[in-house]
Amino acid sequence: MNDESKPTVEAYKQYIESEDFHAYKCVDCGAVIAPPSGTCYACGSNKMEWTTVKGTGKLVAFTVIHIAPEAFKAEAPYYVGIIELDEGTRITGRLKGFDTNHPEEVSLGSRVVLDYEHGESGNTYLAFRPE
Ligand SMILES: [Zn+2]
Repeated sequence: MNDESKPTVEAYKQYIESEDFHAYKCVDCGAVIAPPSGTCYACGSNKMEWTTVKGTGKLVAFTVIHIAPEAFKAEAPYYVGIIELDEGTRITGRLKGFDTNHPEEVSLGSRVVLDYEHGESGNTYLAFRPE
């Protein structure tokens, strides 16, 4: 990483591209947030630093994308989920290892673990699979 101190969305994406996910952590209260923000959502502090996470959490919401934006068309259908990490922050990611034809088999609250997905578009996505 060129400059790990900068909480930019570009740096965040680069961590994902490198398959080395990093979140942002408040130095004052320890709250973990992602994507990074210059200000802590919990206490308002602006002393933030990069941190790693365990990568485990639970699925709190999901949807199946059938009609995708042009850039992701070749990848549809795919799942997008909201995952609450064990550190407390909620992040959005692709879901892998779930059958897109059977969304009824996906249970909210399921334990998932951080992974990555390489899309046909050439992008690397943050993804989660069953733990
Ligand atoms: Zn804080």
